[in-house]
Amino acid sequence: MSDAALRLLVEQTGEAVLLMDATGRVLAFNSEAGSRFRIPPPERIEPHGNLPGCVWVRLDQGGGVPAVSPLSRALAGEGVRDERWGLRRPDGTRVVLEGSVFPVGQEPGAKPAGVLLRAREVMEEPRLDAMRAARLLAEAGALLAAELENEERVEPLLRLLVPTLADAGVFFLGAGGEAVRAAAAVHAEPERHVLLVDMLRRYPPDPLDPRGLPALFLTGRTERVAELSDAHVEALTRDSEHARLFALLGVTRYLGVPLVARGRVIGALALFRSEGAPAFGDEEERVAEELARRAALSLDNARLLREAREAVRLRDEFLGIASHELKTPLTPLHLKVQLLQKQVDVLAAHGKPVSAERVSETLDVVQRQVRKLTSLVDNLLDVSRITAGRLKLELEEMDLASVAAEILYRFAPSAAQLHCSLEMHAPVPVLGRWDRLRLEQVVTNLLSNALKYGAGQPVRLTVEADGRTARLTVEDGGIGISAQDLPRIFERFERAVSDRHYGGLGLGLYITRQIVEAFGGTVKATSALGQGSTFVLELPRGDIPDEWLSVPGAPEP
Ligand code: ADP
Repeated sequence: MSDAALRLLVEQTGEAVLLMDATGRVLAFNSEAGSRFRIPPPERIEPHGNLPGCVWVRLDQGGGVPAVSPLSRALAGEGVRDERWGLRRPDGTRVVLEGSVFPVGQEPGAKPAGVLLRAREVMEEPRLDAMRAARLLAEAGALLAAELENEERVEPLLRLLVPTLADAGVFFLGAGGEAVRAAAAVHAEPERHVLLVDMLRRYPPDPLDPRGLPALFLTGRTERVAELSDAHVEALTRDSEHARLFALLGVTRYLGVPLVARGRVIGALALFRSEGAPAFGDEEERVAEELARRAALSLDNARLLREAREAVRLRDEFLGIASHELKTPLTPLHLKVQLLQKQVDVLAAHGKPVSAERVSETLDVVQRQVRKLTSLVDNLLDVSRITAGRLKLELEEMDLASVAAEILYRFAPSAAQLHCSLEMHAPVPVLGRWDRLRLEQVVTNLLSNALKYGAGQPVRLTVEADGRTARLTVEDGGIGISAQDLPRIFERFERAVSDRHYGGLGLGLYITRQIVEAFGGTVKATSALGQGSTFVLELPRGDIPDEWLSVPGAPEP
């Protein structure tokens, strides 16, 4: 047959035909091959049997680039018949080919002189049949049952889904106070995997940005897009560089499912398929949703368990401190009473009465320690009241300036003992409707802390009003609080000092904040270590007549 006739035959077969010799030189490449591979006739096949700019990708469970291309396998003498191969083309699109590769010019027992590839394009089948779906869910179940950190669990979970269900996927976790983060990301193709991870590192999810994948967090609904348009990509990315990186991932099909646990979105699973792969179907969406549901439940349970353990740890620690604190006043109390008892016994033996002075001195100590105990127990009771939501307020009209002055006056003896001067600045009465006892408690807590942590420096209390808001400020020049500790001191049992140096249950500020919030107000602290602290209380003045808002210049108390 003439060369021309041979070429015509190759051209007319209707299949992609490629003939190469053992060195990789291309001897024939018909136009059908040109349109399937989307490349001009190449001169050579690259090492590892890749056509220029093309990459063979696996279609089976293993995913990613196959270890050996069908061309190299046939060259090595392996029979490659009626197989399916995935191929990523230079323009990033994916195609599935079905065909065979025949060795040519093979002497018996020797390597072939070349190979002939014949293939045609086929529709990619849905990757998830019912059996695979059931197996996937079962394997996911086993992974989710393992007691691991969440980050450690979502990565293998994602590896189950890629490439069985998708070519790439990202697990986002967070929301509800926690920052949203990409907890795991996988792309079936190794280079693109690196790209995906890099893109997520450069563009971490921003829950406040309505664009991007975290939009799933806001809607809490599954999203399915058969073909991501430019507008979709723009919505998923933050700027042109982000869009460029996204385009390099070569994904066009998108399925986003939120992870919802007990009515709260706690994460999202974003799955992608490459161009040329079939769009996600209904059944696949159902499987992804089911998997997300199980994952959400399991991750949320893990969180609850962690929180419960932490709560038990805090409670045990607290019980230790509480018993110590409750016991501390009992020791002097016990000693004083014992001493008095002894004196009574000795004097009685001599027929003499104990002096009123001695009794009164002992009773002073007893009273002081009983007061301490009472306040500790009151604090504990307040915490359980607050926890049970039983903090009741009895509102009445009062002047915050005089309440504060009264409390300041009560602290005068202990301030004197600590050689600490108390100053007050309250030029005018500040009238409002509050619960007197609770207000006193708040001012007492702030003042007692200022003295306790005030290192003997002056303490200054200011009361002022700003329209319908009353403001009370307690400033000290004491040990201060580090920026790191500052955010947690208003939490239950939280302390920023060691209990060896300062006694306390870590409840005062917690109770203070709860009361202030029940009044509809706020309490804030500013401080730095060794630089003193300022606590500012802002309270709405409540439903009061307008004329109360400006009470003309009363003298400073
Ligand atoms: P407690 O004083 O019983 O520890 P609080 O709830 O009143 O509990 O305070 C919590 C923590 O905040 C304290 O343990 C202390 O570390 C810190 N703190 C509170 N007030 C001050 C202050 N005026 N100066 C420095 N640290 C303070």
